[in-house]
Amino acid sequence: MRYKIAVLEGDGIGPEICAGALTVLKKVGKKFNHRFDFIHYPIGGYAIDNFGSPLPKETTDGCLASDSVLLGAVGGYKWDNLSGAERPEAGLLGIRKTMNLYSNIRPAKLWKSLADASPLKKELIENGLDILIVRELTGGIYFGERTLATDENGEIYATDTEKYSVSEIERITKIACKLAVKRSGKIASVDKANVLETSRLWRKTVHAYCNEHYPEIEVKDVLVDNMAMQLVKNPSQFDVVLTSNMFGDILSDEAAQITGSIGMLASSSLGDGTRGLYEPIHGSAPDIAGTDSANPVATILAAAMMLRDSFGLDTECAAIEKAVQTVLEKGYRTADIMQPGMKKIGCAETAQRIADEI
Ligand code: NAD
Repeated sequence: MRYKIAVLEGDGIGPEICAGALTVLKKVGKKFNHRFDFIHYPIGGYAIDNFGSPLPKETTDGCLASDSVLLGAVGGYKWDNLSGAERPEAGLLGIRKTMNLYSNIRPAKLWKSLADASPLKKELIENGLDILIVRELTGGIYFGERTLATDENGEIYATDTEKYSVSEIERITKIACKLAVKRSGKIASVDKANVLETSRLWRKTVHAYCNEHYPEIEVKDVLVDNMAMQLVKNPSQFDVVLTSNMFGDILSDEAAQITGSIGMLASSSLGDGTRGLYEPIHGSAPDIAGTDSANPVATILAAAMMLRDSFGLDTECAAIEKAVQTVLEKGYRTADIMQPGMKKIGCAETAQRIADEI
């Protein structure tokens, strides 16, 4: 098969980590007989400097014409003083909006060889950790109406509104279900139904959707405060976690932290079709850019997710994940995950070693 992949390297370590992911994808192509066409487009600070906009039209057109999109990271000191729509990050929000991506999927996986990096006690993670957080991305309180006003007594007040429609909840539930059937068949749906009306609608809609379309899936409701607690008390009990925008924002960072290394974690954003945006969860790390010391694994795993979730290439995705595991087991580490007795290698060598294991 032939796939057209738009590559948005962005800033800082973006070009290095994307190069690493492409090294691995090229090997997958060779081994499994696929053709990947990589087309590079500008985004973020690089695009501001060279094209006058963090998201040039050429980039949006190119992404919409692609089968899927791989992104490095955007931002850096140079553009820190720009405001709102002029900042590199505006490119990221813009491309998500243009592609109508309403879900954010973040796997929080603890690799056995890196168990020591977790801040949790060994006995809490001895069963491993492989959680998939499915977060609604374009609705809820972050996008609701807000006010900053003064009341009749002259006191300043502010409001933010949480709003969810049935169709918004149904479409994110559908994404969680599609992912859950390929995994354990279990979903933990997070809400605050004991207090919030939006959460009561969330709970009712999630159950109704699953009962009608995926009766084989087991849905368990978890209140958000309990979820925050359970994630550090007994994280292995969870597989797919379905959440609204704000709850997911907070819980996905908590889950990432318990795995111990942001250089290892990928994420994807999906909409209605199969085209998605795949990226590492970390930023552009300007402090180490250009030193060949970045960990490319998050971006390599993002590319693996693209193969599975956009192209249906489950075997190829598994081959990349296994290769990552083998390289870790052989004791190779980038600086961010370095441990005593291990062999320190750079970004390009890490990618090459992973490719060689496929
Ligand atoms: P960051 O994630 O870039 O870096 C935080 C720390 O983690 C740094 O010490 C960095 O060196 C390290 N780090 C990050 N990724 C690494 C990797 N792959 N390998 C080894 N070490 C790694 O976050 P920050 O420093 O807060 O932000 C830097 C810039 O990135 C800012 O301009 C910010 O706006 C931007 N940013 C972009 C995205 C994105 O593009 N999705 C996300 C977050 C931050």
